[in-house]
Amino acid sequence: MTIRPELLKNIRTTEPYVPGEQPQEKVIKLNTNENPYPPAPGVEKVLRTMDTDRFRLYPDPTAGQLVHALAEFYGVDDSRVFVGVGSDDVLSMCFLTFFNSEKPVLFPDITYSFYKVWAQLYRIPYICPGLDEEFRIVREDYYQENGGIIFPNPNAPTAIYEELDFVEDILRHNPSSIVIVDEAYVDFAGKSAMELISEYDNLIVVQTFSKARSMAGMRIGYAVSNPELIRCLNDVKYSFNSYTMNQTAIRCGVEAVKDKEYFEAGVRKIVETREWAKKELAELGFVFPDSKANFIFARHPEYDAGVLFRALKENKIYVRHWDGGRIGQYLRITVGTPEEMKTLFDFLSEYMKK
Ligand SMILES: *Cc1c(COP(=O)(O)O)cnc(C)c1O
Repeated sequence: MTIRPELLKNIRTTEPYVPGEQPQEKVIKLNTNENPYPPAPGVEKVLRTMDTDRFRLYPDPTAGQLVHALAEFYGVDDSRVFVGVGSDDVLSMCFLTFFNSEKPVLFPDITYSFYKVWAQLYRIPYICPGLDEEFRIVREDYYQENGGIIFPNPNAPTAIYEELDFVEDILRHNPSSIVIVDEAYVDFAGKSAMELISEYDNLIVVQTFSKARSMAGMRIGYAVSNPELIRCLNDVKYSFNSYTMNQTAIRCGVEAVKDKEYFEAGVRKIVETREWAKKELAELGFVFPDSKANFIFARHPEYDAGVLFRALKENKIYVRHWDGGRIGQYLRITVGTPEEMKTLFDFLSEYMKK
């Protein structure tokens, strides 16, 4: 049945974001940049001792404990931290709160594809400057008039990290725009723009528990900025839904943040595996931009990416592939455990012998 035109004209129709597959059978899952290791041990302890009688009550709408734990971790005041249900929630709130200009918002043409979805959903005009030949963001493209700027650093799916002078340059050229840096992968890369927040009142840094903290399933993300912009975000959030974060997620989040040692050791393991994976992939003939994230964006000059993708999938190895366009010949491969990566490389080297 189709929707009658007189009904359709008042419906917000939109093209949704397409997340990577979540197969229910056991596979080697290198397709959605999840962490292959479990979250901090404290998280399990919290879950085992959860008092279910508390479930009768609404959670703390401010998620105060988690805000406080994060503020302590970064050495900032609680008033500088906003938390949400995954950074997707935080980013979506940011679009709604900060991108209200008639001028277009700017983000790269090849980047996290959710940005375009939110812009369309909220009817925000946008322009997508192209990445250069090497898939790098061209800073001069962000000197033009705009209604706000957002980019991930490292960028996705290229895995390329830009140093802080790049971020600062964009901030300096755009004093009358909000600039959002999506740092979903920064823990695997280098310095966070977090250290610039007291210097630039137009900067918002967004991070997540989904990648480096192994908690994609718990849905926790956060933004750090100045108290004024955080207040604006909270005002919009409370006008939308007061109780976005459930109390289990809040408590598990606190435990994860507290265990700095576990977190850092986990990041080191992934980075080590990534560096080894780069060597293996290069030996197999793949080419890729230098990755500073927990995934590698690689192409093989002699093998079609779509064909490789399907061959891998048939053998229960899931990676990510986008059909067509400039990235149609690339595979985005999440860094898993050394064992998982070895299975991938063994398969590829057998496959390429044929
Ligand atoms: C994974 C990812 C996110 C979203 O993560 P959440 O699970 O919603 O916290 C945001 N931005 C980028 C670039 C990502 O890769």
